Amino acid sequence: MCRHLAYLGPPVSLRSLLYDPPYSLLRQSWAPRDMRGGGTINADGFGVGWYPADGDPIRYRRDGPLWSDTTLPGLAGVTLAGAVLAAVRSATVGMPTQESAAAPFTEGRWLFSHNGVVLGWPDAVVPLAAELPVRDLITLDAPTDSALLWALVRHRLRGGEDPAAAVAATVAAVGAAAPGSRLNLLLTDGRTVVASAAGHALSMRATQDAVLLASEPLDDDPDWRPVPDGQLVVATRGGVRTRALVDG
Ligand code: GLN
Repeated sequence: MCRHLAYLGPPVSLRSLLYDPPYSLLRQSWAPRDMRGGGTINADGFGVGWYPADGDPIRYRRDGPLWSDTTLPGLAGVTLAGAVLAAVRSATVGMPTQESAAAPFTEGRWLFSHNGVVLGWPDAVVPLAAELPVRDLITLDAPTDSALLWALVRHRLRGGEDPAAAVAATVAAVGAAAPGSRLNLLLTDGRTVVASAAGHALSMRATQDAVLLASEPLDDDPDWRPVPDGQLVVATRGGVRTRALVDG
């Protein structure tokens, strides 16, 4: 059931997020501690996106397990970034294992990830997909629920919607069309991170100048807080706000 994380704060090495912590994303790829919803390991691909000092994010993805990549540890040790989004994937049964199905998905400034599953895929969400431009559908990153979720969020972002609204509206629409779906989404432009807790675990560690959101805490630091299900987190370097995904 995939594991993902997003970091905002002073520049840190990618290694300090992906490899070094006791429950790093590497560790979570073979021994996750919380895989509610199925799956045992996250070995069907991985990806990391980060923001250079200037410009759009750089993305690195592969279709195999994180532990089998012998190049990334060295690169990650010397690559520093103040905004990072990374994920390891456990493909949902019936969904292909290919590089383009691994998060993060990206366009322009944006990086996106989905942890979960759309129930009744694809039939349940055909009416929602039909609202997208045909071009978006025939250029989906991959024939997966996560890629369609990205297309739905991206369509709203392209329309000028604020990122928190785009995530909340997408979770609401897909949750209504496909009840019981697990829709933990992560979206960042390098300045703001938006995260939904909808059916899956999500934890947060916020300090004076940094925030880390992750499917599972990366270590035993007592500052980690679980994000209750049904919440939307909007984090910047200046602070973190949490509200109900569904207003009212
Ligand atoms: N269902 C998605 C996929 O197969 C997301 C993966 C997950 O969270 N297990 O890519």
